Parts: sequence; C-alpha cells; structure tokens
Amino acid sequence: MLQTGLMMERPLLLSSVIEHAAKQYGDVEVVSRETHGPLFRYTYAQCAARARRLANALKSLGLAPGNAIGSIAWNNHRHLEAYYGVSGSGMVMHTCNPRLHPQQLIYIINHAEDRVVLFDATFAPLVKAIAPHCPQVHTWVCLADAANTPSIEGINSVRSYEELIAPCSDDFEWPEFDERTAAALCYTSGTTGNPKGALYSHRAIVLNAMAGCMPSVLSLSPNDAILPVVPMFHINAWCIPYSAPMGGAKLVLPGPKLDGQSLYELMESEAVTISAGVPTIWQALLAYMEPLGLRFTTMRKTGVGGSAMPQALIAKFMDTYQVEVRHGWGMTETTAIGTMGTLLPKTQGWTSEQKQALLAKQGRSAFGVEIKVVNDEGNTLPRDGTSQGELMVRGHWILASYYKSETSPLVDGWFPTGDIATIDAEGTMQIRDRTKDVIKTGGEWISSIDLESAAVGHPAVAMAAVIGIKHPKWDERPLLFIVRKPGASLEKEEILEFLASKVAKWWVPDDVIFLDSLPVGGTGKVQKGELRKQYGGVFS
Ligand code: AMP
Repeated sequence: MLQTGLMMERPLLLSSVIEHAAKQYGDVEVVSRETHGPLFRYTYAQCAARARRLANALKSLGLAPGNAIGSIAWNNHRHLEAYYGVSGSGMVMHTCNPRLHPQQLIYIINHAEDRVVLFDATFAPLVKAIAPHCPQVHTWVCLADAANTPSIEGINSVRSYEELIAPCSDDFEWPEFDERTAAALCYTSGTTGNPKGALYSHRAIVLNAMAGCMPSVLSLSPNDAILPVVPMFHINAWCIPYSAPMGGAKLVLPGPKLDGQSLYELMESEAVTISAGVPTIWQALLAYMEPLGLRFTTMRKTGVGGSAMPQALIAKFMDTYQVEVRHGWGMTETTAIGTMGTLLPKTQGWTSEQKQALLAKQGRSAFGVEIKVVNDEGNTLPRDGTSQGELMVRGHWILASYYKSETSPLVDGWFPTGDIATIDAEGTMQIRDRTKDVIKTGGEWISSIDLESAAVGHPAVAMAAVIGIKHPKWDERPLLFIVRKPGASLEKEEILEFLASKVAKWWVPDDVIFLDSLPVGGTGKVQKGELRKQYGGVFS
C-alpha cells in the first residue's frame, strides 16, 4: 500500500525567494542603470524592503489579489521590485514587450485586464498613444522619481513610482496561498493573429528558477555577478531575476543601454562573471570589442538562446575571449529555459571545433522538462541525432493552456513547439528550424538555421538569413540575405563558393541579396516574415 510522506508542505511562492535573498544574502548587491543614465546600487535586503513597500502601495491603490498589473519597462531595480511586490501580493505581473505593435500592446493590456501599468520614461510616447484605448487602466506609474517622471498630455493619472511608495511602510506580511496561483503573464510575440497569453504559476517560476541555479544550466552562486541582457519584458528574462537572488548572485541590470560599449563597460566595472542574451546582442558586443582589441577581465560564461547561436560566434567567444558558451532553448510557453548545452567530461580530449559543434546544438533538457520529437503522424522518432520532427515538451513549467482560451494546445499531454529538431542518444537536442521556416526542396529538407550558421562563419559576414522561395521544379529553393561587416567587401560568387565548401551542393542558395540590415523583431529574432513579404517571389 502506498504511504504518504511525512514531510511539511510549504507552497513554492515568489515572496519566499526575495525574503530568502534578504536574509541569506542581504548584503549582496543589485546594480541598476537608471533610465535617465546614472547607476543605482543597493542590496537584496533593501530590494526586499522596497518590494514590501510597493505591495502596501498597490493595496493603497485599491488593488486586490488576482488583479493584473502591466509593465512596459527595461531591466532595472524598480521593475525587479515589481516582480516581487506584485506577484508576492497574489497579483499578476503582466510584462509587456514595448517592441510589439501598439495595436498588439493595446490588445494584450485589455485582454489581461491590467488595472495599473508601470512604465519607464523611455516609453512615455508609447503610453500616450495607447492609454486612451486602455480604459481599464486607472493609474499609469512611471518607474522614476518625481523629477524624472514626465507629464503626459491627456493623461491625468500618471504617478511617480517613488512618490507612490514613499509614504508606505516596508512592513508587509506576504500572503500565503496555493503555489499554483498565477504570478506572471507574458504574451507570445507571434507575427500572425493576436498574441496569446502564457500565465505562469508561482510553482512553475520557482521550480524553473531552481533549475536555473543548477550547474548544468546557469550555475548561479554567491561567487557570480550576472548581467541579464535578456529583457525582463519577455519570458521573465529567463527567470534570472528569480534565480540570481535564489542563488545569492549579484544582479547587474543594464536598463536601456544595450549597445556594445555600454554592456562591455558595465561588465568590466561591476566584475560581471556571467551574462545572458540573444545572439544579436553578442554580435553587437564583439563588434565593439574586436576593433579595439578589448578582452574581458571577469566574464567567464555566457548564456545564449532565443535563436540559434552560430558556431563561428561560439568559437570566437571560447577561443579568443575564453568565455564558456551555454546555448539553451526555450519559448514563451516554457516559462524560461527548457534545454541547455554543456560539455561533459568525455569531451575533454576533443578538438575545439568538435566541442563548439556540440555547443551549437541546444543541449539536454533540464530536470523538470521532458522532450521528444514526433513525425507528421505523431509517432515518437528515435533518439539517433538524425531523425527530425516536431519538438514536443512537457514538464513542471510548460504551458497547459493559453490565458482565456477554451481549447487546449496539447497533444496527448505534450506541448507542440512548432520547432523542428533532432535528439541524439545522449539526449542532446538540436533545433533544425521552425516548422514554417524549413525549406522543402525536391522532397528533402534544408535547415535555414544551418545555412545561416555556415554563412556567419565567413569573416566578412555580420548577419545572415535564409528563406525559401517558391520554385517551379524543386518546390522551394533557398535565398540568402547577407549583411556585410562594416568596411568588408564580399560578393555573391565568393559567399556561394564558401558555402559550397561547408554544406551539401544542393543546399547552396540560388541567390544572394546584400542588405544594410535585417529586420529584427521584438525579441531580437530576424523577422523572416518581413523578408518573405518583400522578397518572397518565385525563382524561375
Ligand atoms: P519566443 O516565444 O518568442 O521566445 O520564441 C521561442 C522560439 O525561439 C522557439 O520556439 C524557437 O523557435 C526559437 N528559439 C529559442 N531558442 C533557440 C535556440 N537556442 N536556437 C534556435 N531557436 C531558438
């Protein structure tokens, strides 16, 4: 007969994370770039006190558990306080991506029924445009002191965050409730149809943040200072605002300054040991450092994901800069990290190139997430590293249903990701493409990701993108877009010859278009939909 274990059952609540940091790592610093420029610094103990102050302020605004509070904000300390003050009170922290189209922002704020929206002064023009269409929002709070809070024409309900919390006590008894209660909400940034809401529970976030501290994921400890470039307005900044205080790591928040020079200087001045961001950010950072011959003094590891990290960039980080690359995969629907790549002891004798080829894959699933790939009929494919099909996930922090949606997206209890992947015998997963981006040619598949990664390996290439173009004979053929590095010269014949030495002959694109820049969307991914709209004709 089964017996019930005789252990306590304490709910996994976010308030416990910041209170843990306040008590155990009370003097560990949080450093934050103010939207108006200067650096601000305080400790986890002070952060927790101000989160409690905010909780009292929210109460004073007449808000109650279950209410949603929006944010349109950078990575900064007030946004961090809101992460805890809002969710810890039993309210829902709805992070809005300011790079969404204003119509989509209006849609998500209304759909989420946000009562209050916290915003950074940068986004005052955006607030001015959307506020008249968001009738349920009764207060707009600028994350600044009174001096840096702009008045916005036509909106009387703008308050300064500092003025709002100043009269409130930092004594607040965090309520205890079911750990499955909603804590945060983030909408997908899909290019078709309305965004869909992923409503994260306290339990999902706490478990994901614990996984983030594991050595096989980000390995956060009191010896670390982490600078998340991944935005707090999308997928909870990969849960780093929760895992850093959980692990006792110093947290460095870059605010609006995300250019290569600002990031480099902050990493150096704050002795950052680990960072996390999308590949385009790292390309910009290295583009600043390379011509100046700069090196990192303390940075030793970087988490990367959101789109595929080209092997050439991994090589540069590891060989030239001695920075270990952790390449992970996740999506809005997976709370944060789902898989992460690390090198196992058996790779010790491998060449750098072999190691980098392994790290170009998206790694093994963290404990708490199961992965499989299935064919069109839904049958599970073998873990042989070559059978490719749709990636399916399930686990403690995987979405079961979209917010206010009647239909379940699940298939036999698994979430279909829309990504095409392979999994090998050791469990290492590799994303080959999005289902909608994969190029079908003569009955075979070409991975646009692999082609892009190969193209970025050419020294004159800054960025590359590949789309499929209709072809009368082959169904589809690849078209390559290249952004050259500043000052570099490169012509079509040279890049095609280069690719012919890297990929199968039938993968070599039919044509190349050189552009000054690629369209990049709200989450740092190249918008292939835009390229298709503009260039997606027919090859003859
Ligand atoms: P989003 O929900 O906007 O963050 O987008 C999630 C999607 O980004 C995934 O379904 C993948 O298509 C893509 N993605 C995330 N991480 C990676 C990665 N490391 N390599 C390739 N694609 C990725």
